[in-house]
Amino acid sequence: MLQIARVTREMSSASRIWKGVMLQDNFGRKFEYLRLSITDACNFRCNYCLPDGYDCLGERDYMSLSEIQTLVSAFAQLGTKKVRITGGEPALRKDLTDIIALCANTPGIEQVALTTNGFNLEKKIEQWLNAGLTNLNVSADSLDPRMFETITGSSKLENILAGITKAQALGFDKIKLNAVLLKQFNLSMFDDYLAWLRDNAITVRFIELMETGSNQLYFQQNHVSGSILKQQLLDQGWSQVIRDKLAGPAQEFYHAEYAGKIGLIMPYSNDFCQTCNRLRVSSHGQLHLCLFTEQGIDLRSSLKERDIEQTKLDVIASMSNKKLSHELQQNITGINQHFASIGG
Ligand code: SAM
Ligand code: SF4
Repeated sequence: MLQIARVTREMSSASRIWKGVMLQDNFGRKFEYLRLSITDACNFRCNYCLPDGYDCLGERDYMSLSEIQTLVSAFAQLGTKKVRITGGEPALRKDLTDIIALCANTPGIEQVALTTNGFNLEKKIEQWLNAGLTNLNVSADSLDPRMFETITGSSKLENILAGITKAQALGFDKIKLNAVLLKQFNLSMFDDYLAWLRDNAITVRFIELMETGSNQLYFQQNHVSGSILKQQLLDQGWSQVIRDKLAGPAQEFYHAEYAGKIGLIMPYSNDFCQTCNRLRVSSHGQLHLCLFTEQGIDLRSSLKERDIEQTKLDVIASMSNKKLSHELQQNITGINQHFASIGG
């Protein structure tokens, strides 16, 4: 049964903090992490996500700044401490810096993370950090420009890596690089990432390719099991890091001879959903209890009304519908046509 502890609002000298609220599902999992998609548009054509590019004819009625404020306030008052801004490509929104600031200034939010393809990272990172960004994930599916372009349709790898270097030069060290390893494309480049990590104090996270409604054949041809990579790392002397409470879904590994770390996101492993701590809201204001549910839950009318209390009630009411696990092993992908639509 859903348990919501009594809300007590306390004032601290620095900020107003909500205490004692916790979103919890029927299986005892607690949710302190919101993945917030702010657009489903993208300027890349990753062949596992949007191989034909963004469908410009799609509806673009994305949540406004004030709707996002209502949403984030409601989640914060329900115990959310971390917001990850994602998309589509979130950096395509001109008000991204304002969205970061809004999240960072919401009482109760301790971490504001961004997942981006990094196309304008070099230009924008300083602004984003000043606005309150605390964690950055940049996707780079290859460190080789030609392979990168084959997978993403973009020739921007150099700019993206320069953006990461700039973030580091600004003293920012909460950076992760995301890569999906694909049998027919970049799998043979696994060792390139390891070599890069010897001197680079960054975490590279390998995300296991997931099946969606639109990539079934591609999935069969390119899926690489994360457990094989895990065994390879353990054989090479990498050790597993103990998981933090607000951490994402990755299992992390370190090695004395490497400055960087490795994360493995293995959604096909049996216990993956046991540690689920996140909820998702799409750019159109639909709550998704999982990436692979059959439908979203509409929060939009409460958000349009700027009604924080009703938004909270909508979220609370939905929690008992959260399932124990996705059914990806049975090739059930739910409403998820591609990750850009809900927010990866
Ligand atoms: N456009 C941004 C980016 O690429 O970082 C943010 C959105 S993207 C959907 C978020 C992450 O989802 C990226 O790291 C991407 O590689 C990953 N992703 C997209 N489709 C995927 C799939 N079918 N399986 C696994 N990861 C996927
Ligand atoms: Fe765009 Fe990200 Fe999807 Fe690539 S993975 S097509 S960058 S949304």
